[in-house]
Amino acid sequence: DSSEPVIGLRDVTRRFGAKVALDRVSLSVPRGVVFGLVGANGAGKTTLIRHVLGLLKAQTGSVRVFGANPVADPAGVLARIGYLSEENDLPGWMRVPEFVRYSRAFYPRWDDGYAEELRHTFELPAGTRICNLSKGQRARVGLLVALAHRPELLVLDEPSSGLDPLVRRDILEAVIRTIADEGRTVLFSSHLLDEVERVSDHVCLLNQGRIVFSAPLDELKESHRSLTVRFDAP
Ligand code: ATP
Repeated sequence: DSSEPVIGLRDVTRRFGAKVALDRVSLSVPRGVVFGLVGANGAGKTTLIRHVLGLLKAQTGSVRVFGANPVADPAGVLARIGYLSEENDLPGWMRVPEFVRYSRAFYPRWDDGYAEELRHTFELPAGTRICNLSKGQRARVGLLVALAHRPELLVLDEPSSGLDPLVRRDILEAVIRTIADEGRTVLFSSHLLDEVERVSDHVCLLNQGRIVFSAPLDELKESHRSLTVRFDAP
């Protein structure tokens, strides 16, 4: 069903001990949209994303991804998602082609030709161990693996932390736009509002586990001033 949202959260609350990481979060991400999630460190972005991936189970409320509960069928859901984590923890002893071969085992719809094309586009050397690549190169390896099975949903958790502005613009923004132009969906998190604004169709601000603003980009721009003040307050 193409009218069904790709991601739907309803009243999701998540506690870690006394800490409320997500507080009655509801959101809906339609197909083909770039959905930007903005928030300071600790706002709950990663926790939200981990619910979408089925890595965390909702304590209350419901999570739907492609119409299903990701906890009930994590493998089925994950096969349709490309995911780049904030840590981007890669095996340093492998060379890029080895890591590509390793990663393809997890994705039934892996596209070898496209993976090799991305390796060239991202200018990733074949003969170097991952531990000897720069942080930016490692981010591109992570992105390659997230893209090579042509996921219906691309989830990027603060992907630009290690990237210089040029790489950000040339690679990250281009990748995100291409995916959206093809009618696929992107969930993109960052602590930088301007970065999210540049690529997103819809912006959602998280503050201490709560959604404080969620609207299409144009509405965000209108209320920009008051929001910035609110967002930057300690
Ligand atoms: P960052 O940019 O630092 O990754 P974030 O917006 O992704 O921030 P989360 O990582 O989702 O934020 O964390 C939200 C809150 O929940 C934080 O206060 C964090 O300390 C807490 N938290 C997250 N995971 C756990 C956990 N496994 N155990 C205890 N507390 C946790």
